[in-house]
Amino acid sequence: MVSGLYAPERKVLLHRPVFEGNERPYLVDCIDSNFVSSVGAKVVEFEQHIAAYTGAKFAIATVNGTAALHVALQLAGVQRDDEVITQALTFIATCNALSYVGAHPVFVDVDLDTLGLGPEALSRWLSEHAELRDGQAWNRSTGRRISACVPMHTFGVPLRIEEICAICDAHGIAVVEDAAESLGSWGGDRHTGTFGRLATLSFNGNKVITTGGGGMIITDDEALARRAKHLTTTAKVPHPYEFVHDEAGYNYRMPNLNAALGCAQMELLPKMLEIKAEVAASYREFFTGTGVRFVEPLPGTTANWWLNAIVLESESDRDALLEYTNSRDVMTRPIWRLMSRLPMFEHCQHDGLKNSRWLEARVVNLPSSVPESEFHRLKQ
Ligand SMILES: *Cc1c(COP(=O)(O)O)cnc(C)c1O
Repeated sequence: MVSGLYAPERKVLLHRPVFEGNERPYLVDCIDSNFVSSVGAKVVEFEQHIAAYTGAKFAIATVNGTAALHVALQLAGVQRDDEVITQALTFIATCNALSYVGAHPVFVDVDLDTLGLGPEALSRWLSEHAELRDGQAWNRSTGRRISACVPMHTFGVPLRIEEICAICDAHGIAVVEDAAESLGSWGGDRHTGTFGRLATLSFNGNKVITTGGGGMIITDDEALARRAKHLTTTAKVPHPYEFVHDEAGYNYRMPNLNAALGCAQMELLPKMLEIKAEVAASYREFFTGTGVRFVEPLPGTTANWWLNAIVLESESDRDALLEYTNSRDVMTRPIWRLMSRLPMFEHCQHDGLKNSRWLEARVVNLPSSVPESEFHRLKQ
């Protein structure tokens, strides 16, 4: 089935970028205009594309998704030695950003269906460990403040974000959505990343669209947006020629060259999502009646089908599939090793992570690129 979708004579990659739109002319524009770096019209234009598409009021472009998350956590009020609740089933970038701000991750279990943070697990953990004081949540056993929660929409499958936000609101916990994988995924009529106080996106080379490297902070809060821009642009006080900076900021602004790619990619996004949904439909049909579960979004939500995923019946089935496909030049991948099993995070609190551990042994990603045979549909 995979060789029917993708050219069988070549190695089938998990996810390859597609540059079939205006990428070349927009890049040439940047070079011709001399604006290649972090000041330029394309950065602003790309931010406007993302704001318009997601429905977020503000979008601030960054050098990558990890940098976006680093700054978003600070803006959400996370301070050194605070605790932040997140998933053990996520890509390392989520937890790296937590380390940069000196926060202690607390790993709460995911739902088996969405592969994302589970509201029941979150409620259970909070009722066992947290108490409210002055409108803020504190961990009874460690004495630390629980300042934020970072749910992640795994592979672009929307998690139960409204429930997560409601629980966090009731506990004075800020929600920062890691929407790095979910551009084009919707919870009802709202784009993923527009539920929490802030959210971050990634445009790394393997994501649904790419700027080479890049990220974005989105929010509806004007004050936070202004601070995001300030912190990511070396905290420079606007002035025609003087260099004055009023705090320790970051050089995290996305360069114009990368944004030029992003503008072209945004023009392709709707068509790419349409084609990716067709690829997903082929997988769904293929796995029907096989005993292998094809991961689907919940009713009422829409996935971007960034990476298609299946859940095998056992770890040995998983290993056999990984072995068989990779030895035949078809790239398949197991899901990430749980964060709670990595040396830097193995001492962190967690809730037992029953579902996370079960999924860790069984989930496999399948090749999910837009097939070359469909490229003609991307040309205007
Ligand atoms: C890709 C990704 C990020 C950000 O990655 P960058 O490579 O820094 O852009 C963050 N979280 C998750 C879950 C991701 O998949």
